[in-house]
Amino acid sequence: MPSSTSVSALARPPCERPVTVLPGIGPALAGHLTRLEIRTVGDLLFHLPARYEDRTRFVPIRCAAIGQSALIEGEIVAAGVAGRARPSLILDLADGGGRMRVRFFHFSPAQRRKLCVGTRMSIYGELRAGPEGPEMVHPEYRCFGEGTLQEPVLTPVYPATEGVSTKVLRRAVRAALALALPALREYLPRAEGPPGPTLAEALRLLHGPPAGCDLAAARAVLAFEELVTHHAHLLTLRHAKGQATGAQCRVPGRLLARFLKGLPFSPTAGQEAVLSEIRRDLESGRPMRRILQGDVGSGKTLVAAGAALIVIEAGFQVAIMAPTELLARQHMETFGTWLRPLGIEPLALMRLGAGAKARRAQARDQGTQLIIGTQAMFQEGVDFAHLALVIIDEQHRFGVHERQALTAKARAGTHRAHLLAMSATPIPRTLAQSVYADLDLSVLAERPPGRAAVTTVALAATRRDDVVARVRAACQGGAKAYWVCPLIEEGEMDVKAAAGLHAELMRALPGIRVGLIHGRMRAADKDRAMEDFARGPVQVLVATTVIEVGVDVPSASLLVIENAERLGLAQLHQLRGRIGRGGLPGHCVLLYKPPLGDMARARIACLRETDDGFVIARRDLDLRGAGEVFGARQTGLPGFRVADLVRDELLLPAVAKTAAALVEGDPARLLGLRQRWLRERHELASE
Ligand code: ADP
Ligand code: MG
Repeated sequence: MPSSTSVSALARPPCERPVTVLPGIGPALAGHLTRLEIRTVGDLLFHLPARYEDRTRFVPIRCAAIGQSALIEGEIVAAGVAGRARPSLILDLADGGGRMRVRFFHFSPAQRRKLCVGTRMSIYGELRAGPEGPEMVHPEYRCFGEGTLQEPVLTPVYPATEGVSTKVLRRAVRAALALALPALREYLPRAEGPPGPTLAEALRLLHGPPAGCDLAAARAVLAFEELVTHHAHLLTLRHAKGQATGAQCRVPGRLLARFLKGLPFSPTAGQEAVLSEIRRDLESGRPMRRILQGDVGSGKTLVAAGAALIVIEAGFQVAIMAPTELLARQHMETFGTWLRPLGIEPLALMRLGAGAKARRAQARDQGTQLIIGTQAMFQEGVDFAHLALVIIDEQHRFGVHERQALTAKARAGTHRAHLLAMSATPIPRTLAQSVYADLDLSVLAERPPGRAAVTTVALAATRRDDVVARVRAACQGGAKAYWVCPLIEEGEMDVKAAAGLHAELMRALPGIRVGLIHGRMRAADKDRAMEDFARGPVQVLVATTVIEVGVDVPSASLLVIENAERLGLAQLHQLRGRIGRGGLPGHCVLLYKPPLGDMARARIACLRETDDGFVIARRDLDLRGAGEVFGARQTGLPGFRVADLVRDELLLPAVAKTAAALVEGDPARLLGLRQRWLRERHELASE
């Protein structure tokens, strides 16, 4: 009933009212706006401009730069129609100091009459280099006497969508500001955030700043609120889980002791320390929520095995999930070798193909202690007997939502499963505490001893023949090499490129076995390719980035990466982590197509300088910005709208403090903030 809806709508604070209370927004536009997740007046307020146009001042024609937008005022000094088949209206505009051309490909007779010699007009558009000097095509325009295109403040350009232009958004936001700004609630104590304007003033500025205004303080005020909201949200998730019970695993640790004794090396101090943190969690009776950050090659797999053995000894099941089948199969190998002597046989649970039914039944079997697989293991139809620990390897490949969905299912009776997430993309501690505020953090800072150094050189692709010769010589001496051929995505093109390279190297390296692996191969073929390389006669393995994460072949000591200029720093570091795993000194060759851009140059320089994943991660953040590094894909966090973890890093300690106080003391405020920033809708949903 429309009348009762509008009455109840008006009873709410302005921010919480539906957009239809604003003039000019009917049900149709409201429908389109939902595509931008805009439903309420408050959503409009917090829909911030992506950039601004400067229409505050007129630019003399001779000062206007090609490729930039400008507001120009002048007089028409020539006008005419050119072209027979498709006539276009051509004007020459002069402003005293300069002259330019304006073209309209579509025009009405009335327009043609109006835009005649002697008319003064203002235009706004992008200046291009035309055949006879600077020109604008279809600029916005106003003739003298019709008002002006000049604006008192910068013009916001909003993220728009089908059916909702940035112009429509400008009008809607202006109406929202008028209605809701005076009554806007500040949920956080001003003294706790960064110095700056009030929230209302910050929003007013961001939606229409005066030219030359520094927006940093206004942004920081908003960023603080946004970061506090996210952080508090993660803390609530964590508290909710802290209330739950987890399978209590208080055991003597016999299996773990036997396992460690059987290893050809002893665990590092770091591995021991992390294992005791994990052990405390598992004994606590609360579900463990822990993330282990450790650089590539720091020995996270051993920690995973140790954790698994504590839980298995307590009589429960453990599941290990890897992002790729290749890695899952490698874990099957490793864990099989490690744990078989203890009487533990892992069960593989991958894509639900042939034999899946039997394996699913086995997962339900009490006797199955360890299950290793991919996401497929949490798909419908797979039940576990008493799953008490889920280990997620290379967790940055999964999002938060995925992580939560996957573990929601995992319980042993009334117990929630423990979670150990492992990540080889280490990030600075303050950032990690923010991004993973719902988890406890463990860090493996160093690699096991006895690792020989990896040298890194960058060579122009024109020197490929030298590299081939070097690989040939090394292989004749018994070395093993990866030759990575990464194109952006694992698609048809990649496979072709890898296959082409494979053929080329087979010709160039007679007498040396060259293998091939890529993502489109059947699982069994991938296994064979890996096996032939790891323990068989294949000495050079041509690969796409399928080998990027986790693959462990200690005998491989050479790595050639093609098109290295196209890869990100973290990815290059991951790939380089494939070598230098045994005692052999490693050599990494980055082949690039010259000329190198600044970013690529900086990345390569960084890789040559250091091998420390934490240093590299820091540099990656500085080069790319947090938005890229923590994009929704990596962390599953909804992308921040204002905040940027790198730019706003100094706010993080205060954010953590304020968020903790909020969760402790003020759920009502938190609810308001969550509606504002996470667009959660409790009231609207119950309407
Ligand atoms: P990541 O942290 O990248 O997953 P892995 O667990 O694959 O690293 O370990 C890398 C290599 O180091 C493996 O070959 C593993 O057997 C070996 N390793 C692990 N721990 C130790 C240790 N304490 N001493 C010597 N080698 C170790
Ligand atoms: Mg690993």
